[in-house]
Amino acid sequence: MRRLDSHVHISLNAESSTLADGELLCRLLDEVEQLNILNIVLEKPENLPRNAISLLLKLRFPGRVYSFGGIVMPRGRGREEDYVRQVELLGRAGFDGVKLFGKPSVRASRPIPFDDPVYDGMYGTLQNSGTPVNFHIGDPPEFWDRDRVPAFAWKNGWYYGEGEYPSMETLLGEIVHVLEKFPRLKLLVPHMMFLSQDLERLRGLLERFPTLLTDITPGRELYFQLSENREKARAFFLRYHGRILFGTDNAVCVQRKDSLEQCRETLSAVERFLETEDRFQAWGGELAGLGLPGEVLGDLYGDNFRRWVGEEPARPQGGSAMEYCGWLRELAARQGCAPAERELTLVMEKMAELAGTE
Ligand SMILES: [Zn+2]
Repeated sequence: MRRLDSHVHISLNAESSTLADGELLCRLLDEVEQLNILNIVLEKPENLPRNAISLLLKLRFPGRVYSFGGIVMPRGRGREEDYVRQVELLGRAGFDGVKLFGKPSVRASRPIPFDDPVYDGMYGTLQNSGTPVNFHIGDPPEFWDRDRVPAFAWKNGWYYGEGEYPSMETLLGEIVHVLEKFPRLKLLVPHMMFLSQDLERLRGLLERFPTLLTDITPGRELYFQLSENREKARAFFLRYHGRILFGTDNAVCVQRKDSLEQCRETLSAVERFLETEDRFQAWGGELAGLGLPGEVLGDLYGDNFRRWVGEEPARPQGGSAMEYCGWLRELAARQGCAPAERELTLVMEKMAELAGTE
């Protein structure tokens, strides 16, 4: 079956993302038909190349790469009109949607609620232009619990039980408020909204906001949750298959030799879970597959995404894509991030070469 992985990233390492990371990520096009690259940028200059690399990859793999551009966040609260301008710039440069990122750690380091009026212009522009938004909100409930927080989360600084972290309720409350203000916003909150342990609540939100979507991107914990309540989970998927997208969170970087191998393992675990009724070992535990029927899988594997975003990926236009990359490079230079500046120069050169050969 043709598959569109709606949730992948160009490297998730602390160092600057490189074009080589992006090229390696596109090797996954041997496994799936299409990729949607989500770019998390925030206020970190080393993340700036991600948006530019995605535009170049879209040009290199026409028809096969979608991408959601990341919003560059200012240090402070920022200005409403600057967020609006960025949404417009991303659209003109050739992105298919916008990626926003609301992990509790991010929200703690930048304590501006996601329903703050400073973002109203941005949400309004996204809603009125029909731009799809993928907005990560929160994290698994056990990340707030000292006794249950997984080792990898602890290591990454994702334990939220102590310190100034917002609760999951606070974060969910903010996003519900955003949807109340902008009820036609084409919003996807990934990882089953971290509500796999409370499908009733997720059902309530999907019923209340008809344009709201989610995805089955691991969050490994959600696979264990759904496996434990397999019958309920299966019924949920049979009822809401029009609202759930397939994704893996696959990310590669050239420094990690096993990254492609790990991506393939994730892909096959997710597929086996969705397609078969097997009980099998994955990620250190046992999963119980849902064995979903063909038309449900068709929706998850791409039909929902194409209805949401478009039949074909947007094609970056030489001039405005280049102009946008130039703006990113200027930002990197102003913040003294030499690796990002270098990478952006490289991407712009490759983009110019491509334009020259057309
Ligand atoms: Zn992700």
